[in-house]
Amino acid sequence: MATIEDLGVIISTDILIIGGGIGGLVAAVKAKGENPEADVLIVEKQTTGWAGKATKIGGILAFLGPNNNGDKFLDFQVRSSGFYLNDQDLLSKYIQSSYRAIEDFIEWGTKLARTPDGKLLAFPNNFAPELSMTFIDIDLMLPIRAKARKMGAKFLDKIHVVDLLKKANKVIGAAGFNIVTGKFYIFRAKATVLANGSCGYKVRRFWVAGTGDGIASAYRAGAEMRNAEYGNLYGHTVYQDTDGGMVGHQFLFNSKGENLAQKYLPNSGPTGVFLPVPLAVGLEKEAAEGRGPITFAPPPAQGGGYPKMGLPKLNDWSQRMAEKEAKYGLPPGTKREIAIPLHGETSCIKVDHEMRTSLKGLWAIGDTSYAGSAVAGAVCSPPGITPGSGIMFAVISAAWAGPSAAHYAKEVPQNGLDYSETKNLKQAIFAPLQSGKSFLPGDAIIALQEVTAPIKYNLRRNKERLNKSIARVKEINEKLPELTAKDSHYLSKCHEVKSMVLCAELTFRAALMREESRGSHFREDFPNRDDKNWLKWIILKQDNDRMKLSTQPVPIEKYKIKMSD
Ligand SMILES: Cc1cc2nc3c(=O)[nH]c(=O)nc-3n(C[C@H](O)[C@H](O)[C@H](O)COP(=O)(O)OP(=O)(O)OC[C@H]3O[C@@H](n4cnc5c(N)ncnc54)[C@H](O)[C@@H]3O)c2cc1C
Repeated sequence: MATIEDLGVIISTDILIIGGGIGGLVAAVKAKGENPEADVLIVEKQTTGWAGKATKIGGILAFLGPNNNGDKFLDFQVRSSGFYLNDQDLLSKYIQSSYRAIEDFIEWGTKLARTPDGKLLAFPNNFAPELSMTFIDIDLMLPIRAKARKMGAKFLDKIHVVDLLKKANKVIGAAGFNIVTGKFYIFRAKATVLANGSCGYKVRRFWVAGTGDGIASAYRAGAEMRNAEYGNLYGHTVYQDTDGGMVGHQFLFNSKGENLAQKYLPNSGPTGVFLPVPLAVGLEKEAAEGRGPITFAPPPAQGGGYPKMGLPKLNDWSQRMAEKEAKYGLPPGTKREIAIPLHGETSCIKVDHEMRTSLKGLWAIGDTSYAGSAVAGAVCSPPGITPGSGIMFAVISAAWAGPSAAHYAKEVPQNGLDYSETKNLKQAIFAPLQSGKSFLPGDAIIALQEVTAPIKYNLRRNKERLNKSIARVKEINEKLPELTAKDSHYLSKCHEVKSMVLCAELTFRAALMREESRGSHFREDFPNRDDKNWLKWIILKQDNDRMKLSTQPVPIEKYKIKMSD
């Protein structure tokens, strides 16, 4: 008789961490720190320590220094960025943990910016009162990976995890396949931590790690989602250069030379580095009314890259980018026309204050749950609270989830697996490899981008266009059984497409339900904030194969920051 061992490679571990980006690595270190006896395994689609988003440019870290006032920051954040949709208790816990994360980075040996005499270099953060910021080098994950390995955590790379395994309402592991060998893998785990990032629909090349696989697997397993409507981050980029722009929307001009930030964001406070809604809508209007093209013209000092701060990799990278720009980019003085691509960042798994999802045995950290944690409120996350909080949220949420998962794993037994369920799952995962199918994953991605990326669908929303986008996503969804893969690399693409289609539906359905405008969610047909009816989180959940939406009031009466009159 066939046994479960005949289906594929079976691995048992106490704690399974899915995703070997910064969040996954820190969760491993913290889980091992809490319970050195626990078996901790990270499985990663690419290569642990090199994959994920934090390795793209390292970047800014925003934190509250030991002598700064967390209440002042909270007040600003809730009123001016999260617009009261924050879980204020979690936001306070987060910001109070931020300096500890900086100390952890130092202890692990990651390179942070230094003054010439070797002290931590910290600047006042322009984007939020009381916060400071520093810089971290691009190879930040390598010392953390070394630390995790030294503590006994194990790694398995090139594994694409597709679905979670469940018994009753409890997650008991996950299943996927090796992208190189095509072998089926089954992971039995007492505790599972999703650390596999957000969804960005592969529009921006630096953001391609985010295909929403963890979000989709959690949703399919029955976990609740929250703040899915805040998965529509846009930033400007410059055509024909080497990926510049994005930062500095205060230097955007129309063909008449008018400064558009001054025109559309007069007297606003800090607005982050990505495009705020009124400016994005204004840029569209300028172009539609014949005052395009919109160009990016920062003063010369702005283009100088990162200053030297003892961060060799970041320094090398910015120098190489400058050289590439000089060789292939536009000549100096050229008017730099911009585009406004979607960055996405759906990160909607709902979690509690220890990063536990609504399913027993399942945690979600970092970019899987930044918006879903409600720490940032009505803003796309990351950058969420402020630029420099993507890496910090991954590290801090991992520092909460790792020990929580380790405690749990100590208390519960390992579960057995059901042969037929696992066999069916294997068949479903490998289905695109069967012959006779014709929907190419690349075509599916383009079709999805046509409906997720344009501003008119995802940033400047209204009922009619949201219904159109939902209908289009449904059409793509109906074609998914026809997805075809010629090998296991393409099989990975097929599963990424499925995840992204689901994330798009979550975002559009939540956006259709929220009949008001708040933060990064803008409805032309409901242009005002409606605190009377919409001081609520939208919760999405799978219910008998349907997407069920409900609301949960924000418990503003128990929070520190009340509504202003
Ligand atoms: C260009 C760029 C610049 C940024 N700049 C900053 C900055 O200056 N400051 C800042 O704080 N933040 C910045 N961010 C955001 C920050 O990098 C992220 O918020 C943070 O790295 C998220 O970490 P994470 O571990 O949660 O997710 P990720 O880094 O996305 O890691 C997720 C990992 O899971 C893996 N994975 C995905 N799906 C699967 C699957 N199905 N099976 C197995 N593995 C899977 C991925 O390969 C990846 O390695 C930037 C991001 C980008 C792209």
